[in-house]
Amino acid sequence: MTKLLSAGPNTPLMTYELLHQTPLGPQHITAAKDITLLVPGTFERREDLTVKVGDGVRTGQKISPFGPAGAYAVSSVTGTIRAIAPMSGDYGRRYTALTITKAPAEQTDDAFSGQAPTLETLLAFLRAAPGNPPLHLFAGAEPAVHTILVCGLDADLLVATNQYVIKAELAAVSRGIAILKEATGVPTVVIVVPRDLVQGFGHTGATALKAVDPIYPAANPHLIIHRLFGQEVPMGKSPADLGFALFSAESVAAIGKAFDTGRLPLDKTFTLVDKQGRKSILSARIGTPVADVLAAAGITTADRDRIIAGGPMTGAAVYSEEMPIRADTDALLVQAAGSFALTSDYPCVNCGECVRVCPARMQVNMLVRFLEAGQYSNAADLYDLDACIECGLCSYVCVAHIPIFQYIKLAKYELSRLNAAEAPNG
Ligand code: SF4
Ligand code: SF4
Repeated sequence: MTKLLSAGPNTPLMTYELLHQTPLGPQHITAAKDITLLVPGTFERREDLTVKVGDGVRTGQKISPFGPAGAYAVSSVTGTIRAIAPMSGDYGRRYTALTITKAPAEQTDDAFSGQAPTLETLLAFLRAAPGNPPLHLFAGAEPAVHTILVCGLDADLLVATNQYVIKAELAAVSRGIAILKEATGVPTVVIVVPRDLVQGFGHTGATALKAVDPIYPAANPHLIIHRLFGQEVPMGKSPADLGFALFSAESVAAIGKAFDTGRLPLDKTFTLVDKQGRKSILSARIGTPVADVLAAAGITTADRDRIIAGGPMTGAAVYSEEMPIRADTDALLVQAAGSFALTSDYPCVNCGECVRVCPARMQVNMLVRFLEAGQYSNAADLYDLDACIECGLCSYVCVAHIPIFQYIKLAKYELSRLNAAEAPNG
């Protein structure tokens, strides 16, 4: 079963941030003392890890705590591992957090230098690059990717990170496109940008340039595939299942820069929105604590202020300022207490706003009842949980301030965990 993807009749007209509305940078921010790298996955016994507290690391060194074939991070500083701890991320995702205290002098690891730009090299060194390139799509035989999309836009409101990168680092993006084509064998690469940014692209090596209307949620990956390529992503499937691999412009630029310089890129570019709504483009080494970013930007926070990683529609609250800038942190929003609507425990009043706004045409008012009761399987079987494209519009319009979007994300995560546990090799 598929769902018709189009703006609901009551969709509020919200426009994306456009680059010319955002002061450019990037201002570079340096971590004061420690950085923290998050490696997907966790551990039960420290003795099983390949690294330990007290180990020295160099800038650009690949760290694989679960062994050479496991997930890895790339150290963005030279220093000593001060702490190793399990950490829970959004919706219970598990990480191993490696906290590294910086040394006064930087030493660069040279394991990447001189590597040929092959798929094996990409998989071995660039999975954790800024912008999180979805290289895992090329690690196995399936699904077969036929089109790579280079997204010079951001899927959430107020964020201009990838627009900035595709304009400011076009040469690196072009080089990244050439490397991706050669390494993956995928011949079709399409650049996707907001409609007002289509001028001035010259030769990029891309097959085509396509424009998206700057009206939310047009930059949602499911809507891009539907509107630009005329294909509906079936319920429960992803664009990758249809053969589309979506790379952020930043991740493609990172691949280009890596092979041009012989060094792994370590700086993450992101949009910072302060309490007055002022926006700027910043960059910091992956792992820099949010506290160091706020201090460098002159932002102080008070009790009940809110910090969000990502955009206002789909971002997640940062519960500690020690949380690091990650490879996929495209934005940080700082909101003053009292300036945002709080979620509530009011019951659904069945106003139907969420149904009218939903681009996936879901019965959100019914779905929410099962989600609130923790009946996730029923939510999936009876009310099409898997059809949700995660735009957040239902939460935005809900008059009862029910955190519907967060319920949906949690339900999807819990069901995926359950399915993985029940799988034959789970
Ligand atoms: S987040 Fe809400 S509005 Fe958006 S697709 Fe999912 S259920 Fe519909
Ligand atoms: S918008 Fe909120 S209150 Fe209205 S029907 Fe949907 S869940 Fe219920």
